[in-house]
Amino acid sequence: MSAISITDVHCHLTDTPSELNLVKESQIHKCIVMSTRPFDQSFVDQAASDFPDKIIPSFGIHPWFSYLLISDKEGIAVDISAEEQKMQHYQNILHPVPPIEFMEKLPEPIHMNVYLERLRHFLYKHPNALIGEIGLDKSFRIPSGPYNSRSSLPQGPLSPYYVNMEHQIEVFEQHMNLAAELQRPVSIHCVQTYDLLLTLLKARWEGHWVPSLRKQRENPLWMEAYQQGPLPFPLRICLHSYSGSPEQVEQFTDRKIPSRVYFSFSEGINSRSKGFTALLSVFQRTDC
Ligand SMILES: [Zn+2]
Repeated sequence: MSAISITDVHCHLTDTPSELNLVKESQIHKCIVMSTRPFDQSFVDQAASDFPDKIIPSFGIHPWFSYLLISDKEGIAVDISAEEQKMQHYQNILHPVPPIEFMEKLPEPIHMNVYLERLRHFLYKHPNALIGEIGLDKSFRIPSGPYNSRSSLPQGPLSPYYVNMEHQIEVFEQHMNLAAELQRPVSIHCVQTYDLLLTLLKARWEGHWVPSLRKQRENPLWMEAYQQGPLPFPLRICLHSYSGSPEQVEQFTDRKIPSRVYFSFSEGINSRSKGFTALLSVFQRTDC
């Protein structure tokens, strides 16, 4: 029996590696396997290398794991111990600031530049790879632990501590810079921050808006001019498990936007939400 032509555009095999065999044996055409943290990227790399006909890799840091990266913007001195850097980092990015005993149990973060170098290596190795899962999440709080190691998933109920939005934006934007430079599609997670996401994307699209049909007719070479030179944004963006409003769908599908914005929905997240039917009806009214 031949494989059916269905692609799973967003799956998390790194949380349940044993399911890799299910994917291998399933009838599904392709699976885009997300990474979410610095230390599950080797798994995605290996899975894509082992099953290149089935798995499309995606490399990124989910906002739930953005606390694992130290950004240069934090201004942390390099001539202090790793433990001091760690404590300063968590004081900088968590709010409210947790007690010292809580921060001591958190994993040692890694420097953004070290991480980005590794990310670039994986992207060069897999020319079909996406960047994701990346994004912004206003509601997430970090787990209370235990944090057994930097690579394993943290356990326990959610703590009262949020990762501040400034840090989440920095981690997101660093990934978007790379997505634009290498022209890789991105898979974006966004919770309660669609207006902010739109603002960040608009800043990238500024100066590159698709001209009106009349202007396109007046200048048939507009597309060539548009494609010249590096672009500050990726051409394909997927808003995964979209949970914004119907009005925001129309903003993300404005015909002037030079990226193609896709929306995906998942049974676990979207189908239980109030207003999902109304949201879907927007897609029947637009050509998005
Ligand atoms: Zn996801």
